[in-house]
Amino acid sequence: MKPNVKDLSKEQFASYLKEQGQPSYRAAQVWQWLYQKRALSFDEMSNLSGALRRQLAADFSISRPRGARQSESRDGTVKFLFELADGETIESVLIPEAKRLTLCISTQVGCGFGCAFCATALMGLKRNLRASEIVDQVLEASRTLHPHPSLALEGRGQEGRSFGGRGRGQGRGISYRAGERRITHVVLMGMGEPLANYTQTVKALEVLSNAAWGIGISPRRITLSSVGLVPQIQKLMEETRVNLAISLHAARGELRGELMPVNRKYSLRQLIDCCRSLPIPRRKRITFEYVLLKGVNDSEEDARELCRLLSGIRCKVNVIPFNPHPGSSFERPGDSDINRFGQILLEQGFQVNVRRPRGDDIQAACGQLQGEQGTKAEGGRRTDEIHPSSFILHP
Ligand code: SAH
Repeated sequence: MKPNVKDLSKEQFASYLKEQGQPSYRAAQVWQWLYQKRALSFDEMSNLSGALRRQLAADFSISRPRGARQSESRDGTVKFLFELADGETIESVLIPEAKRLTLCISTQVGCGFGCAFCATALMGLKRNLRASEIVDQVLEASRTLHPHPSLALEGRGQEGRSFGGRGRGQGRGISYRAGERRITHVVLMGMGEPLANYTQTVKALEVLSNAAWGIGISPRRITLSSVGLVPQIQKLMEETRVNLAISLHAARGELRGELMPVNRKYSLRQLIDCCRSLPIPRRKRITFEYVLLKGVNDSEEDARELCRLLSGIRCKVNVIPFNPHPGSSFERPGDSDINRFGQILLEQGFQVNVRRPRGDDIQAACGQLQGEQGTKAEGGRRTDEIHPSSFILHP
């Protein structure tokens, strides 16, 4: 099989071109075709000679995952199920809000970290995604917004541009209520642990964020969430400028160890020490995610302990009320307990954001993504049968 051109780094591709006797700027041209104009064939690359286009087509393929299924909730949240070349499936979630359109992407098929409350964990780890498969989720989701590449380019560089009212995604009948029609933010919070697939993830981040020849989403608008792999967190903060979110979920090591087996490898103490020492620029904050599980980690004492643990760290706390899924016996606390927990953090001066889960009925909320398995579990419901409650995701 021919190698997928999107699995090469730009440098690797430039050295291939050099061997072909081509000038190095051609690499940027091809990359712009792939990631900015979203070309699906070398034939479209009209500023290359016919001979070079034929040579490229003989040497490389251009991958494209199959959009196997889309589910849309009434508030506009859309879950995509993509089928990869080997038949594995992954999910991405598009979340429209007033002034942003966030895509939540996956980095692995399944996940090997076994967090007790997470649906993806039930799958185990099947495999890492390749950089191209991570980037393709953004390209494919953009395609549903702008089926015609020339239209997609109109929006570039016009932050916050609104197309007004209830825009309709073209081509597949997908509608987006929020005005924004271009993906403005990306969160690596879908299936898998991004830092356990470090090399491919960072390679993908480069393509997502490069404005000259990549997709051009500023790293300030990209957030990577990790289960807490200390050495990789340090490396990521040295090598990229993306935002960091850490899945904390408990303020005591013992409880965290029960909920998140990774805590046995990197203790809560090590993780917090690491967070205190990270070179985070002044205007940035680390996000700590805390899934609220009824009767497990949601007491007033838990909230106070969390405040003590995080004191002095420039951070914000995302409190995520547990999203139920088949196969889990955890429960979401009642609203008054959720509010009380958030209130204690607020009173202690923390920036707090309580995510009111929406779209959990399409199994699109945090910790509900399961690829084809999940879709089967939910009975393969179709778009028009879905009645969402709510889903908000603020990186
Ligand atoms: N592996 C990464 C990213 C994936 S999940 C990580 O662990 O951070 C994104 C967030 O959703 C994580 O904070 C995760 O712990 C949380 N989550 C998982 N299952 C959940 C559930 N059922 N309800 C609410 N949040 C959940």
